Amino acid sequence: MKPKFIADEMLGKLARWLRLLGYDTEYGGDDSEIISRGLNDDRIILSRDKELIRRASSIGARALLVSNEKIEGQLAQLLSENLIDIESGESRCPMCNGEVKYSNGIWVCIKCGKKYWIGRHWKSIREVLRRVRSIARPRDGRNFSQAG
Ligand SMILES: [Zn+2]
Repeated sequence: MKPKFIADEMLGKLARWLRLLGYDTEYGGDDSEIISRGLNDDRIILSRDKELIRRASSIGARALLVSNEKIEGQLAQLLSENLIDIESGESRCPMCNGEVKYSNGIWVCIKCGKKYWIGRHWKSIREVLRRVRSIARPRDGRNFSQAG
């Protein structure tokens, strides 16, 4: 089953990218809220705050300290930890985390109604993902840049 995530306030961009890659990702809230949503809703907590990660781990929540400041490095870290797949082709609404459906050539969010076209923007997304693959260092030694 695909993992679900909750990202802290500092990781808004990462949250939008994870949604774009099809992962159910909540975003924001104070430390206690983040930890309880992580525990109760079985979400992996993503944070750049060591103390939050320590607190979450100490009570049994799954939590990952995001070490990189840049989005490519952050996604590469998740890929290296085998937490995400960047080739799935699935997507959720980057703005609200809703599910999207494809109709008449466009993606429509069934929650907020926002429409997405696959246009020039898609090219820059692919470029970022290409860089992510090139810097990811998987634990099993497989080379992500050769995949896909
Ligand atoms: Zn939406």
